[in-house]
Amino acid sequence: MAGFSLLLLLLCGVGSRSFPVAPETQQQDAETVQKYLEKYYHLESEGRPVGKSRHSGSAVAKLKQMQEFFGLRATGKPDAETLRVMKQPRCGVPDVARFVLTQGNPRWEKADLTYRIENYTPDLSKAEVDRAMEKAFQLWSNVTPLTFTKLAEGQADIMISFVRGDHRDNSPFDGFGGNLAHAFQPGPGIGGDAHFDEDENWTNNFRDYNLYRVAAHELGHSLGLSHSTDIGALMYPNYVFSGDVQLAQDDINGIQTIYGPSKNPTQPTTGLQTPEVCDNKLTFDAITTIRGELMFFKDRFYMRANSAYPEVELNFISVFWPSLPSGIEAAYELAERDEIRFFKGSKFWAVQGQDVLQGYPKDIYSSFGFPTTVKHIDAAVSEEDTGKTYFFIGNKYWRYDEHRRSMDAGYPKMIAHEFPGIGHKIDAAFKKNGFFYFFHGTRQYKFDRKTKRILALQKANSWFNCRKN
Ligand SMILES: [Zn+2]
Ligand SMILES: [Zn+2]
Repeated sequence: MAGFSLLLLLLCGVGSRSFPVAPETQQQDAETVQKYLEKYYHLESEGRPVGKSRHSGSAVAKLKQMQEFFGLRATGKPDAETLRVMKQPRCGVPDVARFVLTQGNPRWEKADLTYRIENYTPDLSKAEVDRAMEKAFQLWSNVTPLTFTKLAEGQADIMISFVRGDHRDNSPFDGFGGNLAHAFQPGPGIGGDAHFDEDENWTNNFRDYNLYRVAAHELGHSLGLSHSTDIGALMYPNYVFSGDVQLAQDDINGIQTIYGPSKNPTQPTTGLQTPEVCDNKLTFDAITTIRGELMFFKDRFYMRANSAYPEVELNFISVFWPSLPSGIEAAYELAERDEIRFFKGSKFWAVQGQDVLQGYPKDIYSSFGFPTTVKHIDAAVSEEDTGKTYFFIGNKYWRYDEHRRSMDAGYPKMIAHEFPGIGHKIDAAFKKNGFFYFFHGTRQYKFDRKTKRILALQKANSWFNCRKN
């Protein structure tokens, strides 16, 4: 039951963190699907919801196309997961091009471009808006030969404005949420221009919606990029803010295909990678059980394995816990308190469901009694039946008593002594069905505590239902 309630929590939680979810009727859902496909997949408007029109074959095909784009099961049916994705706030630019471009991919034919901010949102100070745009342009100029100069007046290549509702470009905004912004591909006139929906609350922090984050995406369109299916890319259509705005390798590959690399040799040419769940070389930062499911952590991402779904769910850690850092180093579940504890460096956070508990992060020295020579924790796992938590650090491990809330005497001990065969250092650990699972690099060891023996050696990503290769 606990697993099921998490599933509900997660299903309700992801797309609608900022407002309570009202139960929707099937009719409303059908309208949601129809409108979404009309807007972003160019479904012909027939005034009838999907499934009821005489030409529903086309709607089913469009729905499958949308599901494929977002890595969902391409069933052609609007299931809960599809609706969840459709309800997420996003960019207003369609995921498929309306017309086949006759002149090849649109691009600017000059490297030195100008922009002008025509008007300012009252949500932020003028300086904050200027700074957000400047930083967004800089992301793209860092990895290309392009330069961007801000004009105070007159016609610039890229005109930026805050507008609401119908603003006479055939792409009306829709009030709060939903469609956040759009931008036009390179070209004269409106080409390259970026419009931000003034009905959004623009921020420079974690609250919805971070202007720098949205601008970084829209300017990608202004330069000629279309939407990416890589959830880690800035050019992914849905709004995701993980605290940091950085180009993914996918964004860099895209923009450099159009304009080539930066002429400045000191600029980095590599971007953030999105984990490939079925890559045999996949390794993990941390893993924990969570209400009967398994959550794997890597850089900015979590991967959730749930036996009810064949696909692994990959998303940003910040979708659930916006205040957690990326690069979690260890995590464990304290089931009797329904808590998950996340470790990075000498700090740790406790969460219950989607809530980070008050007063965190705390430090591991005063909370657990580690000596200050311990700078970070490689892996942690708690045993429900004994109330003991094991912390793995280098080639040693500590044992902590969750009931007495103190470190057991006689620790640290050598990993090789108590857990022979798992190597001298581990990346991640969890306990499931009475067995410990230890991860080191691409390897995973299933370990029996009672006999102190390794029962199985597998690939680290064996929980992801990948086809054997
Ligand atoms: Zn977009
Ligand atoms: Zn517009």
